[in-house]
Amino acid sequence: MQTLHRTGISEEIKKLAEKYGKNRTSLLPIMHELTAKYGRITDEMMQETADALGIRPIDVYSTVSFYTFFNEKTKGKYIVRLCQTISCDMDGKSKVARQLENELGIKFGETTPDGLFTLEYANCLGMCDQGPAVMINHKIFTKVTPGGVHQLLEECRKGKLDKIADMGSVRLNIIKSGPILDNKETENEGLKKALAMSRVDLIKEIRDSNLKGRGGAGFPTGVKWQIAAASKGEKKYVVCNADEGEPGTFKDRILMVEYPHRLIEGMTIASYAIGAEYGIIYLRAEYFFMKSHIEQVIEDRKSANLLGTNILGKEGFNFDVEIRMGAGAYVCGEETALIESLEGKRGEPRNRPPFPVVTGFDNYPTAVNNVETFVAASLIAAKGAEWFTEHGTEKTSGTKLMSISGDCANPGIYELPMGVTIDEMLIMAGGTGAKAVQVGGASGSCVPASQFDRKITYEDVATGGSIIIFGPNRDMLEVAKNFMEFFVEESCGQCFPCRKGNVKILEGIKLLEKGKCSTAYLSELISLGQSMQKASKCGLGQTSANAFINIIQHFGNEILARDIQE
Ligand code: SF4
Repeated sequence: MQTLHRTGISEEIKKLAEKYGKNRTSLLPIMHELTAKYGRITDEMMQETADALGIRPIDVYSTVSFYTFFNEKTKGKYIVRLCQTISCDMDGKSKVARQLENELGIKFGETTPDGLFTLEYANCLGMCDQGPAVMINHKIFTKVTPGGVHQLLEECRKGKLDKIADMGSVRLNIIKSGPILDNKETENEGLKKALAMSRVDLIKEIRDSNLKGRGGAGFPTGVKWQIAAASKGEKKYVVCNADEGEPGTFKDRILMVEYPHRLIEGMTIASYAIGAEYGIIYLRAEYFFMKSHIEQVIEDRKSANLLGTNILGKEGFNFDVEIRMGAGAYVCGEETALIESLEGKRGEPRNRPPFPVVTGFDNYPTAVNNVETFVAASLIAAKGAEWFTEHGTEKTSGTKLMSISGDCANPGIYELPMGVTIDEMLIMAGGTGAKAVQVGGASGSCVPASQFDRKITYEDVATGGSIIIFGPNRDMLEVAKNFMEFFVEESCGQCFPCRKGNVKILEGIKLLEKGKCSTAYLSELISLGQSMQKASKCGLGQTSANAFINIIQHFGNEILARDIQE
């Protein structure tokens, strides 16, 4: 970490502004560079950045203060972030936490007196199948044990952190592959076939495939592309939502590490379909370790004329892709919040309409799709809509990548047809005998054993890919507490029902923990959760009480039977 010289910083920030474009959309990349070099963002830096970008200092401050990965105060040279989200929690996070505190002689939130280490908790690092996970600066370490903590810290003390290979400790963990993951050899066939088609026919093919968005919301991809294609704009954008932050979801991690060509091919096909020349991958900060890998793929594709101008000889078809890093905010997985973030603002969801396909990034029509959606689209272009509809259910075709974690013998990635039952997944993953399964992450549904014949599909239980298994001895109130702590931290605070409601429910959970919550008060909390579903502005607040409501509904008796604790 370098020392700040006030005289030099002005020139340095001006250069960064030149590099990224002198407007507010360059704010996050500039803040990332300053954080990487100086470890914090000072008032002077914010003032100089505001001057260089021609915006107000308060705008810089409001953005900087929103994101977890930016900090104004000096932190340690090594920021050790331990994942506290549910799967890592179940894998023994607490023991690793105690060991870290003991080794460093500090509590979470503190910095060692020598300025070497800061200890923090992180929300889902996307390593749920190989927890407990720790992130040190931008390096990820998985399956960390209390016994391994000392060596990890020693590597830092010896200054060897940078020498540890990126992606070194992250395992791919594909347990069951299917038509999407098994078709690597057809890479770029989809793009070639798409370019031989008219835009109208290409969009029809995607519509006929009945591909629904793989991020969780399930909006038909072909319809989205059709509206974006019809929208008027001097420019258009294709944005890849690679902000995979839903607790228990880690399938995009595998796609971006192992199938990045397929992802960018899918983006290129989308750009052809809607008439866009610019593409952005919004990559979550926790996945920084794969950034250079994807950048190399972008360069390779440029060299092979798979990106750039007149792609594959198609006169007038130009498309380029760049990566923009998120900065640690779960809500940016919501597409309008993601766009705000790309524009250098706080990741606060917008009112809709207008929808991004009409007024998106920089007010231009923007098609935002999830990583897995682009990957699936590239295969549909290669193999046809009919090939895709051979899998899945009548209404939700195709296969889906499931990230399975929690109390099971074989956590990892499973590519399964839409419509697979929870029972079938439990058998495959070695999780039979489970008490409940959380489908769709913290914002999804908690399904009890009596309903394990339910199907994973948009017509029954929907998921963006997160499946968390809870074994017979799991304390479901602890699960509800973990989820609600997550939402209290991640709510953007823009609207009242979500900002206050999550806090109130968490307080209620703490009373339940002590056996001190009356049934009447519990009913009030359930009503509050139901009101949040209707009154909150975005998906976060509309879904954050789901798990709590489900858990009380199915496990209320066991929770209310707890002994009173003083
Ligand atoms: Fe922000 Fe929550 Fe309101 Fe969404 S529901 S806008 S996350 S406060």
